Amino acid sequence: MKDRKGIMAILSGFSGVGKGTIVGELVKRYGYVISISATTRLPRDGEKEGVNYFYKTTEEFEDMIKKEELMEYAKYVDNYYGTPKDYVLKQIENGNDVLLEIEMQGALKVKERFPEVALIFIVPPKVADLRERLLKRGTEDAEMIDTRMARSKEECKYLSHYDYVVVNDDLEECIRQIHEILEAVHNTKDNQKEHIQRLQEQFNI
Ligand code: 5GP
Repeated sequence: MKDRKGIMAILSGFSGVGKGTIVGELVKRYGYVISISATTRLPRDGEKEGVNYFYKTTEEFEDMIKKEELMEYAKYVDNYYGTPKDYVLKQIENGNDVLLEIEMQGALKVKERFPEVALIFIVPPKVADLRERLLKRGTEDAEMIDTRMARSKEECKYLSHYDYVVVNDDLEECIRQIHEILEAVHNTKDNQKEHIQRLQEQFNI
């Protein structure tokens, strides 16, 4: 058990912005815990069950919804994606900082239920970088790239719902900025609620 309570933060970003690399580095360097989502999307080459996602059939996923096992879920380009609840809550209780790498609809649902969650959106310097990165990655065909670009355009209309917007121009700088934001989130009044309450009790307030 750590001496401070863990925080929950959400990292979202347009498809192709480099979220995976950024999250991977944050976990490796600073020990953040990443929530592993369930999805009905098929694994990409190199992806592993229980590492990248828990891969589910639509029936299995809908069963998880019914049993209220998910903290949130959303449909993204024809597939379900959702965050298993118990794992995240347990990690926070144990003092670990948990990162959810999820899309916007799910992020806003989590914020409604847990207002103290920090919403961070990662953007590229310019839109053309996204298509270029998706083409280079080679995991989606041209039609799917167009669909993902259209989804990013939609998400761009609602960026003001996020607490922080970080530009991924220089990868190192982007990672450093996100880590600093997460450190500061520990000290927001919402995350210090219990400590404030203890102090007030000591003052007999
Ligand atoms: P991808 O197919 O590229 O792995 O993910 C597609 C989108 O789904 C990304 O924007 C990713 O952040 C989002 N995503 C991944 N897991 C979850 C989840 O558990 N819930 C929600 N709402 N979105 C997720």
